[in-house]
Amino acid sequence: MTFIAPFDNSYAALPDGFFTRINPTPVAAPQVLAFNARLAKTLGIRHADPDDIALALSGNALPDGAAPLAQLYAGHQFGNYNPQLGDGRAILLGEVVDTGGIRRDIQLKGSGRTPYSRGGDGRAWLGPVLREYVVSEAMHALGIPTTRALAAVRSGEDVYRETALPGAVLTRVATSHLRVGTFQVFAHRGELENLQTLTDYAIARHYPQAEGAMGLLRAVCARQADLIAAWMSVGFIHGVMNTDNCAISGETIDYGPCAFMDAFHANRVFSSIDRQGRYAFSNQPQIAVWNMAQLATALIQLSGDKDAAIEQATQIVHAMPALIEAAWLKRFGAKIGIVDAQPEDTALIEDLLGLMQKDGADFTNAFRSLGRDHAVDEFLDSEAFEAWHARWQARIGTETDVDRTMNAANPAIIPRNHRIEQMIEAAVAGDMAPFERLMKALATPYDSTDQDLHRPPSEREIVPATFCGT
Ligand code: AMP
Ligand code: MG
Repeated sequence: MTFIAPFDNSYAALPDGFFTRINPTPVAAPQVLAFNARLAKTLGIRHADPDDIALALSGNALPDGAAPLAQLYAGHQFGNYNPQLGDGRAILLGEVVDTGGIRRDIQLKGSGRTPYSRGGDGRAWLGPVLREYVVSEAMHALGIPTTRALAAVRSGEDVYRETALPGAVLTRVATSHLRVGTFQVFAHRGELENLQTLTDYAIARHYPQAEGAMGLLRAVCARQADLIAAWMSVGFIHGVMNTDNCAISGETIDYGPCAFMDAFHANRVFSSIDRQGRYAFSNQPQIAVWNMAQLATALIQLSGDKDAAIEQATQIVHAMPALIEAAWLKRFGAKIGIVDAQPEDTALIEDLLGLMQKDGADFTNAFRSLGRDHAVDEFLDSEAFEAWHARWQARIGTETDVDRTMNAANPAIIPRNHRIEQMIEAAVAGDMAPFERLMKALATPYDSTDQDLHRPPSEREIVPATFCGT
């Protein structure tokens, strides 16, 4: 094995109750579909023989220094507490400290059963693996905190969902896989020593400035607030914001039934299992606050003076909607060319979104076209748009560098659902060209010139729902 990663594992040194040591289950015939060489380089990964990428990142051979384990966590799924989840189909190989000095997890997903698999097979199929690869890397290129994709390896085995589908393993890279649910599992079990150890670990790893559990809570709330505003600014719907899919680091994690909106609607839902619209586009701020309340509930357990801790935690969580609003205003202000938008600009932004919703305008293209002659073409009610446009022009009269501000806030391209579906269909048939094309265009989303990929879906191409794909 010539696959070398400079492993430096800290999670594996935590107490036994945090995880189960387990090796990946080998697959039949690993074949690399995608390898993120640039990311690998920043992680200090080297390999002499390309075949060793397939071996290492399918789980068929363990690189030196790996300490494979499945992490324990719990979580609220659609509001209901599940006392035990954990990595059911993921295995942490270990951590490396990257060239920027940041510690990163290297995790295989789809690498076989673990003690936390419950009824699952521990596997993933090619579709969601490539979806996560494309969307997480697109998110990164958009400048939004996210886990990264290092590799997608076809397994040479079928997995069985409704039908037989080609299996695959994703290698995911994250600044950690600590979730709200990691705190919940120890809090609910009353394992306060483990909860304290986890809190200390999370602070040291992510928020060294934070003071104590409440300092950690405050820091996580701030990151989550920024993250939600960032998602909304690009029309992203996470789709399954359960507390086990909410990372303490503030990175976007778990690209299951997520989607970027084409036509704007505030209540848009894609996930086929989200029947009540709990995780609809415009519910995301509220849900993020709810998730932080669950983190607060767990962290309060650590305090000797419960009443004081409850009061402090309540104040921190109650401050979060205002943080999200401020971050939202900053981002959406930039989308209409205002560098430092003020609360009185909210109506201007909301009114534009209202027009988009009424006309079913394409969120990405309508914003991207705003400063251009053809902007009105994105709207059906041209009169209403022209009226808004006049108000907007009056407002931005005093702004400088409007075009630059807008171009940096309004991507030309997002990973559209129909393109992802087309890419997956081709990949299943062995054709990776659509994947390569998408990845190339999405790498520079604010400068993309691949016009055909900027186009919203035709009626025939619309993907009305996404599936968890587990
Ligand atoms: P998710 O909805 O992807 O966040 O997953 C929720 C839980 O189900 C996590 O504990 C996963 O590890 C587990 N899980 C999802 N898919 C599988 C699978 N195919 N096999 C085993 N566990 C799974
Ligand atoms: Mg998950």
